[in-house]
Amino acid sequence: MSRRGLLLGAALAFGLIGSAAADPQTAMALRDRALSDPTAWNVLESLTTEIGPRPAGSPAAMRARDWAIARLKALGFKNVHAEEFAKPSWQRGPEEASVVAPFAQKLAVIGLGNSVATPPEGIEAEIVVLKSLAELLAAPADAFKGKIVVVNQPMTRTQNGSGYGAAVPARSGASEAARRGAVAYLTRSISTGEGRAPHTGAMKYADDAPKIPAGALGVPDADLLEHMAARGPVRIHLMLLSAQHPETLAWNVSGEITGSVVPKEVVVIGGHLDSWDPGTGAIDDGAGVAITTAAVKLIGDLKRHPRRTLRVVLWGSEETGGASAAYLAAHKDELADMVIAGESDLGADSVYSLQLPAGAMAQDQLKPLATILAPLKVLIAREPAVNAGSDVEGIAGAGVPVFSLNQDATRYFDYHHSADDTLAIVDPAQLNQNVAAWAAVLYLLANSDVDFRAKPPVK
Ligand code: ZN
Ligand code: ZN
Repeated sequence: MSRRGLLLGAALAFGLIGSAAADPQTAMALRDRALSDPTAWNVLESLTTEIGPRPAGSPAAMRARDWAIARLKALGFKNVHAEEFAKPSWQRGPEEASVVAPFAQKLAVIGLGNSVATPPEGIEAEIVVLKSLAELLAAPADAFKGKIVVVNQPMTRTQNGSGYGAAVPARSGASEAARRGAVAYLTRSISTGEGRAPHTGAMKYADDAPKIPAGALGVPDADLLEHMAARGPVRIHLMLLSAQHPETLAWNVSGEITGSVVPKEVVVIGGHLDSWDPGTGAIDDGAGVAITTAAVKLIGDLKRHPRRTLRVVLWGSEETGGASAAYLAAHKDELADMVIAGESDLGADSVYSLQLPAGAMAQDQLKPLATILAPLKVLIAREPAVNAGSDVEGIAGAGVPVFSLNQDATRYFDYHHSADDTLAIVDPAQLNQNVAAWAAVLYLLANSDVDFRAKPPVK
């Protein structure tokens, strides 16, 4: 029996041949090719080396736009272009924190995005250390008059990253501290790590509270202040300088592999091109850029493209917002032709499950996915996809169905938004496992004629 005959026989035996359109054999070939394909690593190495940190509104973000256009074109994408939008931006200045008394020493600190600055000389005040945001919310008015509030609430390590959602409100505790008289606000880094590098991220102020400077302490530094405060009053000096620009430009860059049968039907996927500034934006979200670009490039190399168009969008302002709304505004007339959307934005570690819109796995064309993904140790989740990344929230809210390839986030928040978000923490084998899962899933979604908006069949 020929090799082709063997494959066909195996495919028949495993029930892989449903509709002729689905073509699970090609999805499996893509999966296997992806595992040793160098594209994702090369893209990620290039982005982190040649651009590095790239917050929206910075000169590096403009270089990242040009880098993305050149890269997508070189990889064979069509209709490559940048869509410009305006947004406010925030730029970090010099920062410093130290204990003045009783035990003088330096602290690891980083300003939070959107924070107002301290005076240039900084501020000096006594601290009050709280164990949780709840403790802050429960405190009476004027409880922290003239003080710097420190919230030392740890984050839970979980595979699906849900510890982040539970911990991240502490990043925006400044307004509640200000209502109670505080002059500045510091949170323990929203991190599962033990490292001293502090983790930044965007914070929000309430409209009806005074705006006070807000920063994040290294995890051990927050513990250190708690230990010190247990011995008596502690005074610290804090300088967090920054500048706000009400209107700067940002860009969503996209490129396509044109569909062979119904090119106007589009599968929209990608990662975000902007990053925070302390690291080089490798796992957040250079990895998402690299994974989705590499997966679609592999599909583009096929002699025959899938039925529908695959579009990679590299969103230009996720961290401080704006990309999702800009993308929706620019594509309002095209929403009905967007068949499904997804985003890779949880690092470079392995995918462990796939979530599709409700009822999708009942479709014969998609049933082979379980068998195709099993060797990658990816299961099909029972729960339908609800969230698929913040850059597709806008189009999802306007009715575009979403899917998600869920990654193991166990160690992601050790490094996320810190100086340790670099290429050094990316495992090339896990990066390629992502590409394999994305390539196989994207091929089947784009090669099917499944309507993901259709109501699931009644059982
Ligand atoms: Zn991200
Ligand atoms: Zn981020």
